[in-house]
Amino acid sequence: MKGFAMLRIGEVGWIEKERPACGPMDAICRPLAIAICTSDVHTVWEGAVGDRHNMILGHEGCAEVVEVGSMVKDFKPGDKVLVPAITPDWNSLEAQAGYSMHSGGMLAGWKFSNFKDGLDAEFFHVNDADGNLAHMPEGMTLEDASMLSDMVPTGFHGVELADVQFGDTVLVIGIGPVGLMSVAGARLRGAARIIAVGTRPKCVEAAKFYGADEFISYKNGTIEDQVLKMTDGKGVDRVVVAGGGVQTFESAVKSLKPGGKIGNVNYLGSGDYINIPRVEWGVGMGHKQLIGGLMPGGRLRMEKLGALVTSGKLDVSKLTTHLFHGWEHIPEALQLMKDKPADLIKPVVILDNKI
Ligand code: NDP
Ligand code: ZN
Repeated sequence: MKGFAMLRIGEVGWIEKERPACGPMDAICRPLAIAICTSDVHTVWEGAVGDRHNMILGHEGCAEVVEVGSMVKDFKPGDKVLVPAITPDWNSLEAQAGYSMHSGGMLAGWKFSNFKDGLDAEFFHVNDADGNLAHMPEGMTLEDASMLSDMVPTGFHGVELADVQFGDTVLVIGIGPVGLMSVAGARLRGAARIIAVGTRPKCVEAAKFYGADEFISYKNGTIEDQVLKMTDGKGVDRVVVAGGGVQTFESAVKSLKPGGKIGNVNYLGSGDYINIPRVEWGVGMGHKQLIGGLMPGGRLRMEKLGALVTSGKLDVSKLTTHLFHGWEHIPEALQLMKDKPADLIKPVVILDNKI
């Protein structure tokens, strides 16, 4: 089969590979649409997860099942499915401890385009099909379905990690597609005031749509100075980090009230350490919590988040700004995600031709 792969750090291209084999609990799927992710950019050009050779890219999309193993109960060939970016081994001890995303080791639930070939190929393999796939809701567009792989579950996980409560003032740092879903999630969780950090006009417009009340540009001075000014020196209750770099945590801690929580879903592609400012961290006693996490994955989460879309409570259609038709557009869509032009939020490729 053909696939679009990371050949080595900084280089991508089309390759030929064996079609994956289907184990008793697995499924083999054919992608119907794929979305490109900023994580692909970190992985390929920053080598953020290490060197990978001839690894097929792609961890966001939706698909049709072509084969299932003998023990798979709920899926059959021909079913259209949502595919989560994170596909844990649900019988692992880590999953039993509540950390499915780390099943088999830290971040090991993230398999596609990390530890195994991803979705950008004629066929791809899904472990534990009953636990990881979800039926695509009737009538959902392929591009909306693709947003349920990673953007919705990751953006919402940032909100879960920050533990947003009714009436909170929430700072969302980064309003690319992930941060936009954090804005939407914070609103659904009952935030009273959402301050968003980001500059691209298309993202600012979308953030307003999803519920951001005020905006900060990280280019106009420090984030914390602006936040403290806007909050009469008090700071915010919660911070979701979905953009920036290792230096962002200093701003997050400085912007936070004592007792506040920071939830990070940003993939830190470079830098060795993050800085926690001693004084603003209450000289070690400020009850300011910081937690970073990979989203959990799994069928139940996909079904529940999908229900938010089908019920009309979450409109993900604003995320797809660039829609392509045909396999040949995958390299172009990836390049777009790397270049981040001003009018881009998310590129999606509908795979409606032969590879
Ligand atoms: P984007 O690059 O589209 O968005 C990044 C946002 O951060 C933009 O709003 C950008 O502003 C803002 N930003 C850039 N620099 C700074 C800075 N110095 N300080 C504050 N804000 C800044 O990314 P995505 O939304 O696609 O993804 C966000 C992150 O989440 C990525 O690192 C991605 O790899 C990661 N990710 C993590 C996953 C997980 O499971 N944990 C899954 C998927 C993605 P501007 O408007 O100016 O561009
Ligand atoms: Zn992704």
